[in-house]
Amino acid sequence: MTDSPIALAQPDLGGNELAYVQECLETGWISSIGHFITDFEKAFTAISGTQHAVASNNGTTALHLALLALGVGPGDEVILPTVTYVATANAVKYCGATPVLADSLPGTLNIDPAELERLRTPRTKGVISVHLYGIPADVHAIGAFCEANGLFHLEDAAESHGATVGGKPVGSFGDAAIFSFFGNKIVTTGEGGMVVTDDAALEKHLRLLRGQGMDPERRYWFPEVGYNYRMTNIQAAIGVAQLERFDALLAKRQELAHRYVSHLATFDDVDLAVVPEGTVAVPWLQNVYLRGADGERRDAVMAALKEEGVDSRPVFYPMHVLPAFESARPFPVADDWSARGISLPLHTGLSLDDVDRVCETLARVTA
Ligand SMILES: *Cc1c(COP(=O)(O)O)cnc(C)c1O
Repeated sequence: MTDSPIALAQPDLGGNELAYVQECLETGWISSIGHFITDFEKAFTAISGTQHAVASNNGTTALHLALLALGVGPGDEVILPTVTYVATANAVKYCGATPVLADSLPGTLNIDPAELERLRTPRTKGVISVHLYGIPADVHAIGAFCEANGLFHLEDAAESHGATVGGKPVGSFGDAAIFSFFGNKIVTTGEGGMVVTDDAALEKHLRLLRGQGMDPERRYWFPEVGYNYRMTNIQAAIGVAQLERFDALLAKRQELAHRYVSHLATFDDVDLAVVPEGTVAVPWLQNVYLRGADGERRDAVMAALKEEGVDSRPVFYPMHVLPAFESARPFPVADDWSARGISLPLHTGLSLDDVDRVCETLARVTA
């Protein structure tokens, strides 16, 4: 008997995605004008809990737009967690600003709010909180710090559609937030992103920057340098179909995550993240942290999983070890946890039996 390989992630396109994309093709509305874009933006505000949502062509450009609209420019510093997807740090660089890296909290690897005061300088412009792997960051502590010091708070919610803090969705706590709809994210449009905010002036500026800087009142007049970061109607058509099934997609992920935890909590050689009290996480990928392991041992376990047909990937390398963002400060928590972290498969195409098989395989290869 040969078991088929278990993929780390895969999109779930089983709803109206095909019909809506077909409508784009049949009507000719395949570029960045069309009702799916406005429908998607409007529907998304129910998930982000914000007044406004501005779609973009990916999550990285959403970050760039948000930082520009929040006034980030050369000479500024922006504090962000050292463990994140590289896009968070890259977008700060695109603005000519400097990413200032903070160490992580154990388990969730989210930004440690105790780092913020230590990292603040006269050049600090704001803080990006990242809800890593779907677990909410401490938005109350971060928001209070930002407010007390006149800084912006931008949430990177790229991996956390639908997560909540005190019953309120992530994305609704900062001055703005961004989401990603890459193919492996909780909601996908293939490639895609969104900036959300309650600030009407910020929304207006985001739309202007997204569309080459064109004045909305005067066609072909460009008062400032802008970008072409627009989402297509085809991307948005997929997004609208995804949001129709959002609750079901999340419920399936929660079911799989519960199954994972019921197994993994009985392992005596792995650590799991503890979801902070008062928050609801959304399972993006299922992380395990091998107790006492280093990066070499972790990589060997991933190779052994692969041999048995189970795909996995390393938890993000901290930014401070990458050539572009090197920092000499010590990051003891990020270094320890990221080196021994493995992300296991989690997507709606998995069955509970698949989860059982992943856990049995992990037990075998770590024994
Ligand atoms: C996926 C992701 C992004 C944006 O990525 P895109 O691939 O450009 O959509 C930004 N931040 C984090 C934390 C992410 O996981």
